[in-house]
Amino acid sequence: MGKQEDFVLRSLEERDVRFVRLWFTDVLGFLKSVAVAPAELEGAFDEGIGFDGSAIEGFARVSESDMLALPDPSTFQLLPWRDNGTTATARMFCDIVMPDGSPSYADPRHVLKRTLSKAAEKGFTFYTHPEIEFYLMKDQPKVGVMPVPVDSSGYFDHTTQAEGADFRREAITYLEQMGISVEYSHHEGGPGQQEIDLRYADALSTADNIMTFRNVIREVALSQGVWATFMPKPFTEHPGSGMHTHVSLFEGDNNAFYEAGAEYQLSKTGRQFIAGILRHAPEISVVTNQWVNSYKRMLIGGEAPSYVCWGHNNRSAMVRVPMYKPNKGQSTRVEIRSLDAACNPYLAYAVILAAGMKGIEEGYELPPEAEDDVWALSDQERHSLGIDPLPRSLADAIDIAERSELLAETLGEHVFDFFLRNKRAEWAEYRREVTSFERDRMLPVL
Ligand code: GLU
Ligand code: MG
Ligand code: MG
Repeated sequence: MGKQEDFVLRSLEERDVRFVRLWFTDVLGFLKSVAVAPAELEGAFDEGIGFDGSAIEGFARVSESDMLALPDPSTFQLLPWRDNGTTATARMFCDIVMPDGSPSYADPRHVLKRTLSKAAEKGFTFYTHPEIEFYLMKDQPKVGVMPVPVDSSGYFDHTTQAEGADFRREAITYLEQMGISVEYSHHEGGPGQQEIDLRYADALSTADNIMTFRNVIREVALSQGVWATFMPKPFTEHPGSGMHTHVSLFEGDNNAFYEAGAEYQLSKTGRQFIAGILRHAPEISVVTNQWVNSYKRMLIGGEAPSYVCWGHNNRSAMVRVPMYKPNKGQSTRVEIRSLDAACNPYLAYAVILAAGMKGIEEGYELPPEAEDDVWALSDQERHSLGIDPLPRSLADAIDIAERSELLAETLGEHVFDFFLRNKRAEWAEYRREVTSFERDRMLPVL
């Protein structure tokens, strides 16, 4: 038993923890949890807790369904909203392993870890910092009922009705208690829309933090009698919810994207990384934007990207090199604006890293930056600038993804097959649905 395991076992006693929730994530990005009694934990560290993998979305075929959840002691935290002053509940993220001890090929956390270790072999650590947007609605969703946002404020608004401000204060307190540092928070552009930005961390911790974040936000919303949603585009007329992510690669203590004196302080490695992201953006889109609804966010407007291009301080670009501060070379980074708030963060960060690394390994050339507002250009102008559209629908994204070697290699055969099969089924169901758009317009006149 290592030091971290000892620490966990001691904390269980000291804090009178009655339940330990073991968390993991299915292929579509939904959090799964099994509660165990503290007495079970020593065994869980050694052997894992068995469960039926075939019952988890995307995990296993029925014939090989026995799996084990192996808690990662470095992720041990108490759940602040479950702490009643005397007894407590804790959680740990798990790695999923097969009965022979090998990692499960279906575990999204493993997909990310595998991609991180490939980058580590080349000497790189991948850091990420997400800006997470979401809406707060007055009530729990009901089928066929239009949701009502909690306020009618906009970007950076500070109002006295401030439901959002109270909400953010409580949520951030919980996040900080769980060791998740928050950098900024503010009201976003849509009514009831919020943004909370997490401080940068290595990509695995960030992905764990995002899963925790979604859970905390939903818990706080419920306790305040409101409903939080990470749905990419809940309203036709208001902006969607993105999860812009700032990324950088470090070599030891040095930011590999930084070069003093270079344009935007961006090193060759940084430029190649962006080139990789751009070249592979259409094929990884099915992962960074995985729902039918994701593509409604990325139609022109709403500050979400619709085209594959990069820019400096250009919010219509998919990749942005934020304004640099002189003498702050180590904070040189690249903002990827396509990801939405409902992606599986493990898989999304894995495919982003793989695409960027491909750019470095193959020495891709970075195309010229887009200086204009690319939404305002005509199709022809964009074409002559070599700016391609991102997939326009989930169907488009699936078609492109099916031919992607990079995606198959990064996700692994099992996740790749399951994922595309699942997405094809989602699209097929969506396509056959007769919508209120059609009925409202066509019944009166046809
Ligand atoms: N809500 C926008 C999106 O969906 C982003 C707004 C912003 O620039 O922060 O990506
Ligand atoms: Mg924002
Ligand atoms: Mg941003």
